[in-house]
Amino acid sequence: MSKNTFHLVSLGCAKNTVDSDSMAQLLLRDGYRSMDDPSKAAVLIVNTCGFIGPAKEESYRVLDELAKSKLDGQVLIAAGCLTQRYGVEVAKKVSGIDGILGTRRWMDIVQVVKEVRKSKHPEPIYHLPETATVGTDEYDALRVSVAGASAYIKVADGCRRPCAFCAIPLIKGTAVSRPVEAILHEARTLRDSGVRELVLIAQDTTDYGHDLGMKDGLAILLERLCDEVADISPHPNPSSIGKGARGEGGLDWIRVMYAYPGYVTDRLIEVMATRKQVLPYLDMPLQHAHPKTLYRMKRPSNMDWVYKTLGKMRATVKDLSMRTTFIVGYPGETDEEFQALYDFVQEIRFDRVGTFQFSFEPGTTSAPLGDPVPASVKLERFERLMELQQNISLQVNQSYVGKTLDVLIEGFDNGISIGRSYRDAPEIDGMVLVEGRAKVGEIVPVRITGAMAYDLTGALVEPTLIKL
Ligand code: SF4
Repeated sequence: MSKNTFHLVSLGCAKNTVDSDSMAQLLLRDGYRSMDDPSKAAVLIVNTCGFIGPAKEESYRVLDELAKSKLDGQVLIAAGCLTQRYGVEVAKKVSGIDGILGTRRWMDIVQVVKEVRKSKHPEPIYHLPETATVGTDEYDALRVSVAGASAYIKVADGCRRPCAFCAIPLIKGTAVSRPVEAILHEARTLRDSGVRELVLIAQDTTDYGHDLGMKDGLAILLERLCDEVADISPHPNPSSIGKGARGEGGLDWIRVMYAYPGYVTDRLIEVMATRKQVLPYLDMPLQHAHPKTLYRMKRPSNMDWVYKTLGKMRATVKDLSMRTTFIVGYPGETDEEFQALYDFVQEIRFDRVGTFQFSFEPGTTSAPLGDPVPASVKLERFERLMELQQNISLQVNQSYVGKTLDVLIEGFDNGISIGRSYRDAPEIDGMVLVEGRAKVGEIVPVRITGAMAYDLTGALVEPTLIKL
């Protein structure tokens, strides 16, 4: 086991993935090598998730496994949201942890590794400063995570929303936006390294720039990304639905995740409707659809606004694909409130819906409400909503059969090219399974031939053109 080697496990959301990749970059830059096999690495790092119960359990399980299999000379560092939230408690629960690093200071990983390796003290090294360093570019680690031709770019971190069930503001602190120039710089670097799709992420992307004195910061950022970075190749293909340029390389797709209801402005809708690189795709977690439940959740509860905005978006943004998320079993949720949610999902027919059962989180403002909805009722409501959406998703997918979609090819297996269309965000949405071989990293037109609940099948429109 060579001294300057590390093995990093990344848990949780895409924002954590970005932090993990940025920590890895800083270690590589400091002369370390990344090892896939933990037994071959001198430094073990787990970037944990501390959001809800099941995620915390997984973080403790992974830490425990690595701690128990630790070899002489190896050190184990627990980083991320679980440590930021519970600090010392994590080291008490899992013996064998040598260092604790909070999510707000992931950029101090090299320093913490050095301190931990130098330390002769049996007690773990704690590095949990409250200060988050998101805005300033003190650390020129790219705040991105690249997977093939697609990359997440973190535009801000932290959140200032009051959602009663959510622990993220406790963990990450308030929302801090990154400078526009830093994001443009990263986007250029990614474009030049062959990335075709940029996925903009934050806890709340629609709050981007508020702390930089910007109004409509997200719309402005998208305009500048289109004007100053994205490839404006002359080969847009009008035949395939779901615009987004299909140029000969360059940055073609810009996708927006985690929009907060109430902050999807007319200017943002306008940019999504007119800028060809900005995909007609929006992820906007609504969490519920009954005003009383939303009010108890401390979420925007004006359902008239929700209907009006969804209507305006569908009328303005051609081929719009919408994803949202709901929580069932929130304290006080009555049958009538759940039925209102069920009817709303049936009526709106979202392309994609993620559903979660309420998870009691100590320290959140909903904690005093406890967790009164029985687990069996939560599960029954969860299954009913998932079943409803599965049928809707299948019907919506069936409406694409016979049409042509541009597909970003991400893999090839068993004679099938695997990719995503503009309707599919990485890791959470469906895929398009394409007959024939297309070049990985290319965006190619695909005629849809079949539909499943979440995925589509298709055939290459121009199989001969594909140069491997
Ligand atoms: S918007 Fe609400 S749910 Fe989302 S991260 Fe912020 S507080 Fe949590």
